[in-house]
Formats: sequence, C-alpha cells, structure tokens
Amino acid sequence: MRSGSAKWSLTISEGGEVRKVGIFGGTFDPIHQGHMVIAEQVADTLGLEIVIFVPGGVPPHKPPTSVKAPAEDRLSMVEAAVGENERFCVDRVEIDAGRPMYSVETVPLVKERYEGDEWYFITGADEVSNLLSWKEPDKLLAQASMVAATRPGYDISNLDHLAEALENYEKIVPVECTRVDVSATRIRRMLAEGKSVRYLVPDGVFEIIHDRGLYGADEAREDQRSEEHLSGSKEA
Ligand code: ATP
Repeated sequence: MRSGSAKWSLTISEGGEVRKVGIFGGTFDPIHQGHMVIAEQVADTLGLEIVIFVPGGVPPHKPPTSVKAPAEDRLSMVEAAVGENERFCVDRVEIDAGRPMYSVETVPLVKERYEGDEWYFITGADEVSNLLSWKEPDKLLAQASMVAATRPGYDISNLDHLAEALENYEKIVPVECTRVDVSATRIRRMLAEGKSVRYLVPDGVFEIIHDRGLYGADEAREDQRSEEHLSGSKEA
C-alpha cells in the first residue's frame, strides 16, 4: 500500500502503454467489503493500474453530523483495508482540505499528483443514478469517465434521464460486479446493537473499530454482556 501526495509514477506501463487510473471517493464510514470488491473488480475489468482511494472529509451533500467517525479514523481504516495490495493506494487530499469538497474539485487535484492517461472515477450504482444532483456533472465527466459499479438494490439498466441531460453521457461506464449487500449504515447499526461485523469489513478495519471503540462498538457489547449476565443470574 502506498499513501501520500507525491507525484507517483509507476514503472509497470513503461513502453508506451496507456496508463489507466481509478479514483475511488467515499465517506468510508467505515470502509467495508462492498467497497473492496468493487475496487478490485473494476480495476480488473477495466485494466486499471492503480486505484486511489480518496476518503472524504466533510461531504458537501450531507450534514456534517451524518459522518460518525473522525476523519483520521476513517483514513486509518482505509489504509488498513488497502493493506499490501500493490494496486491500491490512499490519498488524503480531501481530508487535509478540511472543508466540503465536490468531486469536480477533487479529481483535477488528484490528477496533478499521479501520472495517468485515462482516468476513471469509481462510484456505486446508487451514486450514478443521482448524478444530476452533483456539482457540474458534465465537467466531472470531461475530467474522468465515471464507473457505475453494480450495487444490490440499484438498477443501472435505465439511465435515460442522464442520457437526455448530459453531453458527456457516453463517459459513464457500467461495470458488473459481484453484488455484496452491505452498507456503512448497516455496519454502524449492527455495531451499535452489539452485533459482530467481522468479515463484513476487512480484518484490519475490524481491529481499528474495536481498538478505538468506534460507532459505539464496545459500549454496545458491554451493555449486551451485562444484560445477558443479569438475565442469567435471574434464571439461576
Ligand atoms: P452509507 O451507508 O453511510 O451511505 P456507503 O456504504 O454507501 O455508506 P460510501 O462511503 O458512501 O459507503 O460509498 C462510497 C462509494 O462506494 C459510493 O459510490 C457507493 O455507491 C459505493 N458503494 C458502497 N457500498 C457498496 C456496495 N455494497 N456495492 C457497490 N458499491 C458500493
């Protein structure tokens, strides 16, 4: 795994091949196996050399209170998830900005920091369907193709509303991925209820969640244990 902001040049494509790069933005609150599967499968399908994970600081489209874990914890979890995967790296440009950033601002900054010939902005199907609510979607599509990775519960077979409204509609690239029916919202809810999220998140992420007590993880477990203990002693 590589992390940082230095202009990063890979040697794999020397020899005139097109260097394809993916940018994967998200709140990652927390990062989970649904994210990992689409990053891997999109990279594989499109032949991306690297996927740059860009955890968001404060999302522009959501109230700040909707983000539950501090930015540095979310960043640590993304770094842990990316692990030793040579094709993945993490960039903290949005976290360092410390203000809401739109993708149309982020993509050119990332493009300045890495070398690439073809750029792909990776999103799940739910995000693509909402593209008209994004800031300057046509400009964003001019900067990078947008990958619409399939996601359970979201249909990308009909994107007619986008075809009518966007000049650069052709730059939306659907990619069929194995459907992993998990969301960060569900994971946070499970943790708050004291349920195990092991295997729904990468192992390193699971450890950080519990070590740092994120999302009320261990409080909920403790509450559950003492309830079990109490009901056990009543039954005895
Ligand atoms: P939340 O439940 O908090 O809204 P999330 O699980 O959707 O979070 P984000 O960090 O908002 O996670 O997602 C980043 C990107 O990953 C988005 O483009 C989203 O569509 C995509 N994504 C998230 N989960 C999945 C999944 N299970 N399958 C496919 N794409 C996903």
